[in-house]
Parts: sequence; structure tokens; C-alpha cells
Amino acid sequence: MATTNKTDTSWVWTMPTMGTPWCNCGRDPLTKEPKHKVTRQLIAKNVLEAFGDIPESFSNQDISQVVLHLWKKPEITPVMAQALLTSVTAVAGGVRESYDPQTAMAVVKHFSNTVNLNEGP
Ligand SMILES: [Zn+2]
Repeated sequence: MATTNKTDTSWVWTMPTMGTPWCNCGRDPLTKEPKHKVTRQLIAKNVLEAFGDIPESFSNQDISQVVLHLWKKPEITPVMAQALLTSVTAVAGGVRESYDPQTAMAVVKHFSNTVNLNEGP
């Protein structure tokens, strides 16, 4: 059964933020914030680029596709898969068949804030 219960995701957008993984602009010297943050607007833009529209509901596969597009990666690695599972659990309370757009985009945001791909070559 498809579950698209509304989930409060506002806390995700106020988490300490990391910059986009492919951005070398560095940090603002005054605020110490990344110059190019992973914002709701950036994620929405990537959803539009990936699907041509904002889907009414997202599958786990759809969320992975947005992550790949945003992170400019060819495939989901085991580390990314684990981080996605962590983010889905944190944001949506667990893996579902489908997610509403707000929840899906918050999962992408949470993932982008928490994944660590810098663990060795
Ligand atoms: Zn940049």
C-alpha cells in the first residue's frame, strides 16, 4: 500500500549545512557557511532536471535518482546506499513505498548534510 502520510520535515532544513559536493567555492569568510549550500531550491531544481516535473510521489528509486543528479555521481555506492537508508529512517521514520515531495526532498537534504564519502580511496 502506498504511504504518503505528511511528515514534519522542517527540522531538516535548519540542520547545519554542507556545501554542494562538487563545488569548490569554499566558505564565506564572515559566516563560515558554504557559499553554495544544498538548499530546497537547489534540490527542487535537480528534481525538475531529473524528471522534468515535480512528481506527486517519489519511490526510493526516484530519491536515488535525484541524489545521483545532485551529486553528479554515476551510481549509488554502498556507502551512499547506507547513508540514504539512514536519511530515510531519520526523515520519514523508515523505508516506505513512496514519499510526498516535501519528504523526498528533505531526505535528499538530510543525505547531503550527513553522508561522508571521504573515507579512504
Ligand atoms: Zn560553488
